[in-house]
Amino acid sequence: MLQPNPNLSDLVNDTAAGLADRLQVKANITAAAPGRVNLIGEHIDYCDGFVMPFAIDRYIVIAGRANGTRQARISSAISEEIVTLDLTQLQEVSEPKWTNYLRGVIRGFQDRGHQIPGFDAYILSSVPGGAGLSSSAALECATATFLEGLLDTVLDTKEKALLCQKAEHDFAHVPCGIMDQFASAFGKPNRLVLIDCQTGEPELVPFENPDFTVLISNTMVHHELSDGGYAIRRKHTEDGLAIIGKSSWRDVSTEDVESHWNSLGEPINRRACHVVGEISRTISAAAALAQNDFEALGPLMAASHDSLRNDFEVSCKELDILVEIARAIGRDGGVIGARMTGGGFGGSTVTLCESNKAAEIAAILSTEYQRATGITPQIFASRPSQGAHLVG
Ligand code: ADP
Ligand code: MG
Repeated sequence: MLQPNPNLSDLVNDTAAGLADRLQVKANITAAAPGRVNLIGEHIDYCDGFVMPFAIDRYIVIAGRANGTRQARISSAISEEIVTLDLTQLQEVSEPKWTNYLRGVIRGFQDRGHQIPGFDAYILSSVPGGAGLSSSAALECATATFLEGLLDTVLDTKEKALLCQKAEHDFAHVPCGIMDQFASAFGKPNRLVLIDCQTGEPELVPFENPDFTVLISNTMVHHELSDGGYAIRRKHTEDGLAIIGKSSWRDVSTEDVESHWNSLGEPINRRACHVVGEISRTISAAAALAQNDFEALGPLMAASHDSLRNDFEVSCKELDILVEIARAIGRDGGVIGARMTGGGFGGSTVTLCESNKAAEIAAILSTEYQRATGITPQIFASRPSQGAHLVG
């Protein structure tokens, strides 16, 4: 069934109420930053490719105010504790881990010469955790935006996103690319964030027509293979590029892959097929949307999923089932296209569909997926939404 998206203003009010209740403080600075989902361009961020995520209508909100000390008192709805941070000596901690995202972002500001005054803050989220929707990037971007409010300054958006990425690298030890923080920081209503991973430059791509929306369906599974599977895929792409003899996948053509087919060998030749095909599909998808041509996304999303399943081999039974159900509903039933999204081996699918049929399609996805797997998926709809911002 289709889950409603909590209204951002309700979330903001609830965050202020949480701050008052837990820390006895009245908020005068409130920041919100969204999670993200990738519409197309999968497993090519580390191949100088393109990704095209958007900010979803699910947010992490931080509400607070300066407290006149050199300490921060922070608390989140995910736990009971109130954590005190010594702002003169910020270190990574083993527990509670969630505070490391804030610590890393505060350090990023301090490294740029900002004096952070003491503050009290409370955190509330509507970004589902563990669904591959990047609640960590949302937390980092919300923290950075809160600090901008506290310092009465504005960072360049790209600098802010890179600062947040560095916090994730250094304080959470996740060697992520730039997609998550760029989507959360640059996202705009009715715009996808096309990111050129070779140059690190984002470009906003129109997603205007209100007749279309995206269903995000969580399989609720995460297969263990994922950790090793990801590293091996990266290695395959590095080896493939070396065998082809180019310095960037952006310079590799389909003909290059075909002419090196035997020397690439199995499975690197199929990995190479995916990379070259997915780069081209992502460029085509952006070009189609620039012309308001949503229908063109259907075949591109289908080819993306098939390539991730057959050539890159990062799908799984549950993702394939959700995509197959969406395909069976078909264009007549309101589905434009569907594919797995994110790293794979579980996680979520995206289904581009007609807005007025979204609830009906979600009901079918839910019922049929449950029938096939015994698992109830979580499904919500989102159009591209506003990125990190101060509220009020
Ligand atoms: P993802 O980014 O895909 O959602 P991660 O494991 O990268 O998953 O990040 C999830 C972590 O982010 C959580 O374990 C927690 O530490 C932190 N986090 C997410 N939401 C909140 C929240 N509302 N309050 C505090 N920490 C949060
Ligand atoms: Mg994350």
